[in-house]
Amino acid sequence: MSRARVLVLNSALGPLDYRVPYGMSVEPGSIVVAPLGPRQLMGVVWEAERLPSDSEVGDNRLRNLVGVADVPPLKAPLRRLVEWTADYYLAPPAAVVRMALSSTALEGSRTAIEYRATGHVPDRLTAQRAQALERIGERQGLIRELAGIAEVSDAVIRGLVKAGAIEGVEVDIDSPYPEPDPAHAPPGLSDEQAAAAARLVGDVAARAFAPTLLDGVTGSGKTEVYFEAVAEAIRQGRQALVLLPEIALTEPFLKRFGDRFGCEPVAWHSGLRATQRRRAWRAIASGEARVTVGARSALFLPYADLALIVVDEAHETSFKQEDGVHYHARDVAVMRGKFEGCPVILASATPAIETRQQVEQGNYAEVKLPQRFGPAQMPAIEAIDLIAEQPPRGRWLAPKLVAAIDETLAKREQSLLFLNRRGYAPLTLCRTCGHRFQCPNCTAWMVEHRLTRRLACHHCGHVEPVPRLCPECHEEDTLVACGPGVERIADEVAALWPEARVALVTSDTIWSPAKAAEFVGRMEAGAIDIVVGTQLVTKGYHFPNLTLVGVVDADLGLEGGDLRASERTFQQIRQVSGRAGRGEKPGRVFIQTHRPGAQVMQALVTGDADTFYAAEVEARRDAGAPPFGRYAAIIVSSEDKAAAHDTALSIGRAAPEVEGMHVYGPAPAPLAMLRGRHRFRLLVHARRTLDVQDAIRGWLAALVWSAKVRVAVDVDPYSF
Ligand code: ADP
Ligand code: ZN
Repeated sequence: MSRARVLVLNSALGPLDYRVPYGMSVEPGSIVVAPLGPRQLMGVVWEAERLPSDSEVGDNRLRNLVGVADVPPLKAPLRRLVEWTADYYLAPPAAVVRMALSSTALEGSRTAIEYRATGHVPDRLTAQRAQALERIGERQGLIRELAGIAEVSDAVIRGLVKAGAIEGVEVDIDSPYPEPDPAHAPPGLSDEQAAAAARLVGDVAARAFAPTLLDGVTGSGKTEVYFEAVAEAIRQGRQALVLLPEIALTEPFLKRFGDRFGCEPVAWHSGLRATQRRRAWRAIASGEARVTVGARSALFLPYADLALIVVDEAHETSFKQEDGVHYHARDVAVMRGKFEGCPVILASATPAIETRQQVEQGNYAEVKLPQRFGPAQMPAIEAIDLIAEQPPRGRWLAPKLVAAIDETLAKREQSLLFLNRRGYAPLTLCRTCGHRFQCPNCTAWMVEHRLTRRLACHHCGHVEPVPRLCPECHEEDTLVACGPGVERIADEVAALWPEARVALVTSDTIWSPAKAAEFVGRMEAGAIDIVVGTQLVTKGYHFPNLTLVGVVDADLGLEGGDLRASERTFQQIRQVSGRAGRGEKPGRVFIQTHRPGAQVMQALVTGDADTFYAAEVEARRDAGAPPFGRYAAIIVSSEDKAAAHDTALSIGRAAPEVEGMHVYGPAPAPLAMLRGRHRFRLLVHARRTLDVQDAIRGWLAALVWSAKVRVAVDVDPYSF
């Protein structure tokens, strides 16, 4: 007789006890199916206990486990990571462990039927069916996936199968992955690179936890260098994980990896089809997948034998997950390395202050690459004072920047204009009555998108058509756009240089890895003269013929006075500047700003990162801000505003008196309404050495609130 303690997914309850029926064998980490109420849910065995054969203590009340999945049990390091994450981020363990599983991965069958267009289009097709076929194009997937792509019901797809327009094909989902070859095309490293690589390879060879900051300027060859450590993991017959901040970067990475190792690594991201997901998950769990590249969710996968973790562009804010389990993938990656006993490389040209501080304190090693590879030099950066050198009315590019683009075009080189704002204009209002368009679900203005002729909320995704009449005063054609978004800059560029080939790069135009690959291809082929883009273009790309970068509004990120505003501005502009002059041709960067004297602008122009960071660190130290102190946010939300407010107030009243901890609020959260929920926030500030999680756990455990109120804790919140 055995009893198992199981973390049941989708259950807010803690671990639950079950009886293991005769003939079934489980161990800690086994993935099982467990009954809960009328449902059967997936779960993970956390503890398994063999009871004496005559023992029946309490077992009558226990329900039997239903089944056990035919996959390897989750190993101890991953289970410890789940416990640590749940503990540190105050999240339910079941919600954390869910990130390690993939429901499709557990289905037994090795083959599946996927569907795709046959190319035969029946006559007399309904408009809906015709549109579905068009949207599906050449894509392949399960019925429900194609239905999702086409935004129709499953029945429509089945109808198309009957009509012969779509056919099923059998796919072998467990077909093996090719083995990357460390000797396929090794690069000739510079002396500086070789020395850096030797240290990282040494860490992998030592098979022990070793966190390292790989701090190299943009274009120094950080990827080439950490690839050597990946090669060592492959030579050992073990596994490596490379985390990227953005799914759009996956495609170029796959290609680059293929050039170096002769085949692509295993990709893990939200865009995978169910069959791809199953194949990848199983190969990762069996150890067959040598190298996995993925978004932050790849961090919780059940690697059989992890030898190395790389977090590329480790300073990126997208590593911070802001819903569900609030965690920072950079920090969790370090913990996974600790539990697995393997090195962790954080690669960045602009490391976060927290990471630099870890180096300072001797917790992380540092490997530096201070120079660009080959003949490439760091670009010259110049500030344009927007007060002294105003653009003409209704325009956003100052004369000096326009002249620089002229010169770049004349040399047949490429320019990039960066503005981190999607859409046409951040604010649209009625010229007659002043009406502004607010999102019905959020405390946010709707942003006009001319490409789609819609007003969109960038927080909840709500869209509406741009009306011809003002909804308030009913005047016709009175709407005016205030301020620029990237679409408006693209318009200005088209007006100034009608002959230039312009690419607009935002998440509205580059929404899939395939779109990103297409953009990269056009850039490399020289089919684009001027790129206008949001933060999507600041990351990772390498275009040797791109020699000019213009930052349209360098002050944008400084608004709001966020704790990290200066640091983020510095990182973002350094990154986008790093796109210029990566080949043999020198690069130039112009930063348009109203505050050329601000410390962050000065640091960008002089390139003196150390002085800038030192000043930031001092300011943080004075304020007791991270990494010298800690914050946690308690967000109370509900569709019912009064309920949310009352709960927030009672949580505030129950705040414990703890030496070294201070509670601010409740106050309306920075987004007071989000997706139809009213939000209030309590901000906890604590001394660094204080166990703030413990304090919050005890504090909230003593309280109850109504079911329509949600209370979420964000430990180490990123922006506030
Ligand atoms: P980073 O990530 O530091 O910005 P990358 O790794 O992207 O830099 O390297 C910049 C460019 O230089 C890439 O095109 C890369 O292929 C090239 N490069 C770097 N090191 C080498 C090398 N040792 N041999 C050949 N090409 C290199
Ligand atoms: Zn909204």
